[in-house]
Amino acid sequence: MDIDTPSQTTKKEVLQKERRASSDSVYDTFLQCLTHRAQPSDHISDIVYSQANSSFANVLVPYIRNHRFNSSSTLKPLAIVTPTQESHVQAAVLGSKDIGVHLKIRSGGHDFEGISYISDDAFFILDMFNLRSIEVDIKEETAWVQAGATLGELYYRIWEKSKVHGFPGGVCRTVGVGGHLSGAGYGNMLRKYGLSVDNVLDAKMVDVQGRILDRKAMGEDLFWAIIGGGGASFGVILAYQIKLVPVPEKVTVFRVEKTLDQNATDLVYKWQFVAPGTDPGLFMRLVLQPVTSKTQKGQKTLGASVVALFLGNSDQLLAITDKELPEMGLKKENCREMSWIESVLWWDGFDEGTIPPLETLLSRDYPINFLKRKSDYVQSPISKANLDQLWKKMIELGNVGLMFNPYGGRMSEIPASATPFPHRAGNLFKIQYFINWSDDDPELEKNYLAQIRSLYSYTTPFVSKNPRSAYLNYRDLDIGTSTNGKNSYEEGRVYGVKYFKDNFERLVKVKTAVDPDNFFRNQQSIPSLPK
Ligand SMILES: Cc1cc2nc3c(=O)[nH]c(=O)nc-3n(C[C@H](O)[C@H](O)[C@H](O)COP(=O)(O)OP(=O)(O)OC[C@H]3O[C@@H](n4cnc5c(N)ncnc54)[C@H](O)[C@@H]3O)c2cc1C
Repeated sequence: MDIDTPSQTTKKEVLQKERRASSDSVYDTFLQCLTHRAQPSDHISDIVYSQANSSFANVLVPYIRNHRFNSSSTLKPLAIVTPTQESHVQAAVLGSKDIGVHLKIRSGGHDFEGISYISDDAFFILDMFNLRSIEVDIKEETAWVQAGATLGELYYRIWEKSKVHGFPGGVCRTVGVGGHLSGAGYGNMLRKYGLSVDNVLDAKMVDVQGRILDRKAMGEDLFWAIIGGGGASFGVILAYQIKLVPVPEKVTVFRVEKTLDQNATDLVYKWQFVAPGTDPGLFMRLVLQPVTSKTQKGQKTLGASVVALFLGNSDQLLAITDKELPEMGLKKENCREMSWIESVLWWDGFDEGTIPPLETLLSRDYPINFLKRKSDYVQSPISKANLDQLWKKMIELGNVGLMFNPYGGRMSEIPASATPFPHRAGNLFKIQYFINWSDDDPELEKNYLAQIRSLYSYTTPFVSKNPRSAYLNYRDLDIGTSTNGKNSYEEGRVYGVKYFKDNFERLVKVKTAVDPDNFFRNQQSIPSLPK
């Protein structure tokens, strides 16, 4: 155990006191700016939390969804602003600009690298969790949803109004709309309806001048940029207007698991040809992980699970899978028919036993989790021999898993330049590399980060090249970061072409036009060109 000597303690205390005093004075100045910028009726002091406020940790911590970034050494924000009306967001942008302090924007806090709430410089957090209203217009088949709403809340409010409408967003109920949609979020209906952003009609945002703009006022270039280019490079998203999509009264879900001695390799090999080409209403995710063998004592094997949603009934589904993927051995008893809204809960971790009350979708509870993710795109099937070697590597490493998410269907019909998200036709599937743990142990973290990076390095020959592409919403700072200094364009290009390919340059153009001084920035933001 480290024990401080008295002189070290004094030095530390003095340093802490100084830091607190300077953070208090920045906070006071910020509060004055906010009060000056806000409307007289705004009660600004009720929505701003300084580090000295007894509720500071209660506001900061619940939306830290990756506890790797909740250590005592993680730099904390000087203040957190929690707007309850749009004018508060305008005041926060202008107030931070006035005093030159970096503003981070957080909606649901699910960024895998925590970039909505961590920074190396002094910063404020603009936390959108109170701005969460959802207005569903079933006659028009549209909805306005504020950035601080969660996906679970959105799906629930749609279901309240209609049992035959849904939205093709992500599968985790606590993910925030602000980050998810601005980063081109996807879910298990992407083969039928594309990404969330392929179904966005309008948006409202606050720009760097503190103006509230809708699609008409912001113009098509900026609107294009905030449906997949990451909102935080361009402004603060207040809300999106979305188009609802039809879902049948009954859908079918299933999970089938195979290990190597049950011919998992044949299944995975064939899956690569079938899953991206089958009926667009069928989404079959493959989850691959080392598991303990049930037949060979003390041995590890590879577990391959197909987790699926089909927009139809089980008879229709079996007619497809019997013909196209008999290797899966799907049987009627593996299938569960349910309403679409129940399938949302099934996918969100309630895939065993009974589905809990639908109100569970409104819960913002989330377990303490330490995470790392990486991503890749696969454009040609991986051979059986290479799959065998890949399993060997995964078993040897021990803890990293892979998720294969099939593309095709609607994804191949939408041009690569329609939104900033470029990974359309020609991609068979996206890989997510995943590793989760629940103990706050630096050695474990070191080991797990090394494992996931080692697997990523191993798969190089099997995935897209020039550039090796990545998915923005599976944020990965390993692929490049920006210091937001004079080399920001060169630094930004490194990760920018991986996330956006040819769309990167258009994003830079938009950024340069709307935020030339790079007020809205983060570790992987879109750079503005030097003046
Ligand atoms: C458990 C879990 C499950 C997930 N499942 C899926 C999935 O099924 N499909 C999928 O596509 N992704 C999934 N993701 C990834 C998720 O979509 C992204 O991390 C997304 O960006 C999270 O949005 P958020 O608002 O919750 O995050 P935040 O951390 O709040 O924000 C993420 C980024 O968006 C910016 N941002 C947030 N709000 C705004 C705003 N109002 N205006 C401007 N910029 C803003 C932030 O500054 C940050 O850069 C998952 C993540 C987790 C942790």
